[in-house]
This record gives sequence, structure tokens and C-alpha cells, in this order.
Amino acid sequence: MTNFDSGDALALYNVDRWGGGYFGINAAGHVVVKPKRNGEQIDLMEIVREARSRSLQFPLVVRFHDLLRDRVEIINVAFAEAISEMGYGGVYRGVFPIKVNQLREVVEEIMDAGHPWHFGIEAGSKPELLAALSLHSDPDSLVICNGYKDTSFIENALLGRKLGKKVILVVEKLEELVHVLRVSKEMGVEPMIGLRVRLLSKGAGKWATSGGENAKFGLSTADLVEASDMLHAAGLAHCLNLVHFHVGSQVPDIRTIKRATREAARFYAKLSKMGHALGYLDVGGGLGVDYDGSRTTFDSSTNYSLNEYARDIVYTVMEVCDSESVPHPTLVSESGRAIVAHHSVLIVETFGSIEKNSRNEPVVPAPDDPQIVSDILEIRNDFNKKNRLENLHDAQEIRERAQSMFDLGMLDLRAKARVETIYWQIAESIVEIFRTMRYIPEEVKEMEVALGDQYLCNFSVFQSLLDHWALGQLFPVMPIHRLNEFPDRNATLVDITCDSDGKVAKFVDLQDVKETLPLHRWKPGQPYYIGFFLAGAYQDIMGDLHNLFGRVNEMHIYLDEDEDSGYYVEEVLPGSTVGQVLSLTQWDVNELARRMKAQTDAAIKSDRLKPSEAMRLLDDYEKSLTLYTYLNFDDQHQKG
Ligand SMILES: *Cc1c(COP(=O)(O)O)cnc(C)c1O
Repeated sequence: MTNFDSGDALALYNVDRWGGGYFGINAAGHVVVKPKRNGEQIDLMEIVREARSRSLQFPLVVRFHDLLRDRVEIINVAFAEAISEMGYGGVYRGVFPIKVNQLREVVEEIMDAGHPWHFGIEAGSKPELLAALSLHSDPDSLVICNGYKDTSFIENALLGRKLGKKVILVVEKLEELVHVLRVSKEMGVEPMIGLRVRLLSKGAGKWATSGGENAKFGLSTADLVEASDMLHAAGLAHCLNLVHFHVGSQVPDIRTIKRATREAARFYAKLSKMGHALGYLDVGGGLGVDYDGSRTTFDSSTNYSLNEYARDIVYTVMEVCDSESVPHPTLVSESGRAIVAHHSVLIVETFGSIEKNSRNEPVVPAPDDPQIVSDILEIRNDFNKKNRLENLHDAQEIRERAQSMFDLGMLDLRAKARVETIYWQIAESIVEIFRTMRYIPEEVKEMEVALGDQYLCNFSVFQSLLDHWALGQLFPVMPIHRLNEFPDRNATLVDITCDSDGKVAKFVDLQDVKETLPLHRWKPGQPYYIGFFLAGAYQDIMGDLHNLFGRVNEMHIYLDEDEDSGYYVEEVLPGSTVGQVLSLTQWDVNELARRMKAQTDAAIKSDRLKPSEAMRLLDDYEKSLTLYTYLNFDDQHQKG
């Protein structure tokens, strides 16, 4: 594997399969980002260098704004093309669901990029609605309000109506309709109303719970009839404008989408005929991202493309509406994941690795070796390819025996260490032999995983990859440099939280799920950077405060031909400081400093500390409150 190059790395990490045309590897062996899927590319290591020169520490989220714009464009173009191809009678008016990435800069960029297509916004809570109302400016685009609503939520939506915005209140249950009608009467404004229908078609995959008869949201058929009657009775039948459904996020199988769309289109057509000026059919979210690149119905994949998705929706709605002789509605989708997943990369620094067998030099026999050490040494010395499995079993047996002897106090530490070192050396030889073989027995595969290194990574899974921990969602992960070198270690990643769940031990693969990731040997003093990709949806801004790590540093990047590097940094957002995360949990930083001062004063009085030393320590303590929460290894990197 001495001729390993960037092409081999591209294949090994399946970059072209999951990358959507946005990622590649350059001749230097660095990952590059191609925000517009063309020749313009940005070297991620160049960004790392720039971040370091600005003293920005890792973990670091890098956002590519041009990539975000490209996503908005391709989804709108996909629907526009499907519509013109099929001679569909309506248009597409997508909305961005803010919950998928609430960062103001991200939402603003999406609104700006979506302007030519009157791309709107979706809110599912009061904070999201208040943000949406202030940002929204295009009277032709929609503001869709989902989720359960109280009076204040409804009032704010109606304020939007008074300002001339197309704000649609999607009713999730019957009582909500009563509530909306009452508040609009009080405010003297006509609402635009949507009904969320409860479909029998269920989603599939990890996020499928939002569909089906037992869904948390949505009106049953009987509820729909009652809602229609209620609106007629109030003289507001014309205020029912939209039919909405949502089968869940990351729908892996296109058949689920087709089935649900067909069912919802039927509801749309029948409600239209009940005397309502409908006009909008909202297919919700669910448009998936092929995280592993396998193009299958596996949870982390999708068996369809964006164009196929758009065509199937347009075709299905058209077919149902034609059969019912109902005009084709304006189509709305609330695609969040598919818009934001690709645009950000989380760059994490490793600061060490734990290897099972880090001592490469062979253990030689010593005169005072106990019998058990000689026994396992003998297996290693007589090791032969033909008896490899037998050798493995014998070594396993000796290792277990050594453990029992240790438990009984019959083996000292040095001897136990020698047995284990030799055992892992034997295991490594066996895994090595099988590496080139077509059939690998299960026990050897397990051995390979057990032999894997653990790379210590300066980040928190709970902050930056919440769905990996909570739902087992897989993301593409790979080193962003040294890709001209064969990655000869297999490893899992562990984070810096004090939680054994704080790790990544499942990786995307075309066939199945991989238990380890090929990585390069970690060298002390040399930074090694790992990229987490496609984590821009639901991850990079959400997070929790496990171990009080908090938000990570961010750099926002735009392409720029006039710059040598091909880009410029538009904005840097500092991550949380120690003081900030403490404040969120009710610790007052001034109070902390005051209490520490009282303690150092007492130490001075009792001659434990000299006053000058006490002042310096107190200064350091106070300064620590202003630092980034994550670890800083800059002082351990080799200079130059
Ligand atoms: C979460 C959610 C979405 C976004 O779904 P994606 O699969 O990310 O596109 C859209 N609509 C509703 C009602 C949601 O709850």
C-alpha cells in the first residue's frame, strides 16, 4: 500500500457516493469542498491553517454559504423542472422549517437564495414564529405555522396577516380551529387556515413516528368534516387554504412518499369540493439525505434522488386532481434536512490514541518468566499460518487463565502485562493474515474490532452529533488530510465528555455498518484533523449542554475568485466560554470569583500562599472563565 493516493482515499471513504458532488480530495491529500459542484474548490486544510492563525480553536464548524445557496437552488429547480416537464397546472412554493437549523445566518442565507422562487419559512413554536415574522419580507412567499398553538402564537400569526403576509395557521387538532376562529374574530382579521391530515400511510425508518393513525398530530376524517362544517357555519369557508401532512423525516423509501402524497391529494380534492378555496397542498418534510451513499432503504440512506422525489409528487398530485376534476394546487414542501445537511463540516482535532498493542518490539523470554508467559511466547514463536485459528484459540485460553491467576493473586503485574502484550501481537498477526482473504470468520472480525484503536477527539458527541448518540444516526466521517498515505489503523472515536456513550463506533458503509474507521497513525505533537460531514441538519446548532461544553466555534465561508485561497471568511462566531455555559445553569461568574477570592484571602492569612502568588492564581481562575470550553492543545503542537 505504498502507492496509496488521493484516488484510493476517495474510493476508501466513498466520498463520491455520499458527497453529492460537494466534496473531493486534492493532490496534496486534503479534503476539498466544492460549494457549487464545479471547479471552484476550497481546501479544508487551508481553512484549518487560517483558523489557527486567528487563534480559533477546535472543534470548529465551517459553514459554506455558497453550498447552502446551491441546495436551495437545486430543490427549487427540481420542482420547477418536474412541473414544466409534466405540464402541471400549479407552481412550487417551498418553505424552510427553521427547526432544522435555527442559526440566523443560515436562515437569512436560505431566504435570500430562495427569493427568486418565493421560498418561504416554516415555524413550529413561538420563538421560531417570532424570528420568521421579522425576517420574512416577500409577500408572495409563505409562512407556515405548525405545532400546537396558544393564544399568543395565534395572535402573532394574525399580526403577520395584518402586515399582508401569507401566514398559514395549520390546525393540528379540532379545538385549535375553534381557538383560531375566536382570536381572529377578536383581532378583526381573516386567518389563512391549513388542516393537517392524519394519514393511514405510515412512514418508515427512524423518524417515522409522525405518521399513521396514532400520530401525535393531525385530524381524522371525521375531524376534517367537522372542521369544514365549522368554517362554513362561521362564514369563513374560503379561509381554508391548505392541506398539510408530514410522514416523518429522512424517509428512506420513495414508496412511502408516493403513498402518502396520493392519500393526501385525495383529501385535498374532496375538501376542495366541499366549498373551500383551497389552493395549497403541503407535503411536509421527509426528503432524505443519502448519508452513506448506498442509495438504499437503509435508515441512513434514500433509494431515490431529489429529482425523482419532485417528479413523483408532481405526478401523483396531478393524477389524483385530474381524476377528481380539481385544479392543480400550488405545491409546498417543508424540506429542511435536504437543504442544510451538506453545508457545514465539523472539524475535530484528535489528541491521542489508545492502541491495544502499542509496543511493536517483540517480547523476548526472560529467565524469571512464569510458566504462563513462556506458554504464550511459545505460541507466538511457533505461530503458523496453517494453524492460525488453533493458535488464536490457544492464546485466548492462556489469556483467560492469566486473568484467573491474577484474580487469585498468583500473577504479578509485570507478568500479566507480558501475557497481554503477546496476546495482542498474536491477534494482530491473525487479523493481518485474514485481511487479504475473501472469507473472514466471525471471531476474526470481532478480533479486528477489538484490536481497533480509540482516537481521542476534542469534541462532544452530545453537542455536535446529538442524533448519533440518541438515534444511532450515521454520518460520513474521515480524516481531512494525509490522504496520500494509507490509513493503516482501524479506530473508533471517543469524545471528551465523561460519559461512556460519548463515542462514535458506527460508521457509514455501502454494504452494512462499519465498526471501525480507517485512520492514519496518530503522531504526538502533530495535529490530526477529522471531519464530520453532512451534519448541518438538526446537529450543528442544536446540541445539549452535557458536561457544559456548549456551542463550538464557527467560521462562515464564501467563495471569492479574487482571493488566492479562493474564499474569504465572512464571519467568525465564537463558541461558548466557560463563564457563559455556567451562567446558563444559574452560576453567577462574579459570585464564583468572589468566593474564590475569599478562599485565597484565607490561604494568605494562614500562610499557605504568598499574596503575589494568590493574586496570580486568582487572575488565572478569572481568565479561565472567559476561555473556550473545549480542550486546547496548542501548547503541545510542534512548532513550525
Ligand atoms: C421536522 C419537520 C419538517 C422538516 O423535515 P425534514 O425531513 O428535515 O425535511 C417539516 N415539517 C414538519 C411538520 C416537521 O415537523
